[in-house]
Amino acid sequence: PAARENYSMYDNYHELVAWDHAHLWHPFTQMQGFRQEELLIIRSGQGVYLYDIHGNRYLDGVSSLWTNVHGHRHPELDTAIKEQLGRIAHTTMLGLANVPAIQVARRLVEITPPGLDKVFFSDNGSTAVEAALKIAYQYWQLRGERQRRLFIRLKEAYHGDTLGAVSVGGIRLFHWIFKDLLLLPTAEAPNPYCYRCPEQQNCQGQCLQALEALVDARRHETVAIILEPVMQGAGGMIPQPPGYLKKVRQIADHYKVLLIADEVATGFGRTGKMFACEHEGVSPDLLCLAKGLTGGYLPLAATLATEDIYQAFLGEFADFKAFFHGHTYTGNPLAAAAALASLRLFEEQRVIDHLQDKIAYLTTRLAEWSQHPHIGDIRQRGFMVGIELVLDKNTKEPYPAKERRGHQVTLAARKLGAILRPLADVVVLMPPLSISLDELKSLLDITIQAIDQACQ
Ligand code: PMP
Repeated sequence: PAARENYSMYDNYHELVAWDHAHLWHPFTQMQGFRQEELLIIRSGQGVYLYDIHGNRYLDGVSSLWTNVHGHRHPELDTAIKEQLGRIAHTTMLGLANVPAIQVARRLVEITPPGLDKVFFSDNGSTAVEAALKIAYQYWQLRGERQRRLFIRLKEAYHGDTLGAVSVGGIRLFHWIFKDLLLLPTAEAPNPYCYRCPEQQNCQGQCLQALEALVDARRHETVAIILEPVMQGAGGMIPQPPGYLKKVRQIADHYKVLLIADEVATGFGRTGKMFACEHEGVSPDLLCLAKGLTGGYLPLAATLATEDIYQAFLGEFADFKAFFHGHTYTGNPLAAAAALASLRLFEEQRVIDHLQDKIAYLTTRLAEWSQHPHIGDIRQRGFMVGIELVLDKNTKEPYPAKERRGHQVTLAARKLGAILRPLADVVVLMPPLSISLDELKSLLDITIQAIDQACQ
């Protein structure tokens, strides 16, 4: 049973449940089924733990939707935000600047792959992608290549839920209903989903050849290729083979199209390096960051661009070359102060160095599960893990979707003291980078127990 935190005062659980059911529309949630389940209401957090309203404790196994880095209620992050609150909570970036936003921009340019010199702030991953798409499109317009309207995307990609971001996504479920009328022109290339690839035994990089053929055929109308480097996240934790990203960079260079790297999920240490692009020494033309940017504390996102792209937007007032985009809370000082403190912690505490032992332990433990009769595939890049559950390990036959095995794992894990959130039948592990080896061991023990219970 999960440990309890001692609360002197309880909120009225039943009243809150009634209000939630009456008024709250939860994201990406089938509300009818959700309302029939017991509602878990989180009241506080500490380190890698979340506490519900009754005081029950849970390991935050997916970092509060892949955002948390240094743990909840980290004293330095808390202090940085409080100190900034003592100065100003919000002002605008339209026509003004603020101190922490300038400092974060400078730091981001220092730590991201070479060549990304300009930072455009927004509020979340989707808007970081939205800004990248618009910048890329407007860039070609400003360069006189007016015919360029097409974005090339990968199957199973997830880039967010606003319309531009949905347009370049490749998950059918999120895509199909909007596809006919609301989305931008795109073309889809196959992704390297090796586990279910028909060419798995005979791989000669057919997926990359198909991508290249597509770019070649449509080079004059293409704005950019967009992808999640090294590991596709929400599509099911699908890693790319070594060399894949470098080859995509070469294709983009050869056919003279832009490359947008969406590191909203992979950024800030998740894959074992600060940014996933570093695994292959690749610099994209545009880089999207969010989630872990503030250590998982406050909404802030950034789209980084090369000097070449930025230069295309320079001109006289009457040229109308400005980038016509900007949200009210862009560059919010509180969020920027959190980001600055988080980036300082990365450096001072050598977070990436200390992560390597934990990644090694994770790899060893996951390897022990490879013979499990209902685990078809285990996919890992650093601290990003997807465990694909199957009905039949030999044939790779999935469970019937309506059985919701991934969800059953989540419910079982919750009873055992961990919060997980699957991607259909792919169980995801994405703990905060600050998790200790003991806590990681507990998380893995709970996960395999929950899988056993749900897949009996
Ligand atoms: N891109 C990627 C790769 C993501 O994983 C996500 C969120 N899971 C997004 C974009 C969208 O981010 P947000 O939910 O903050 O809009």
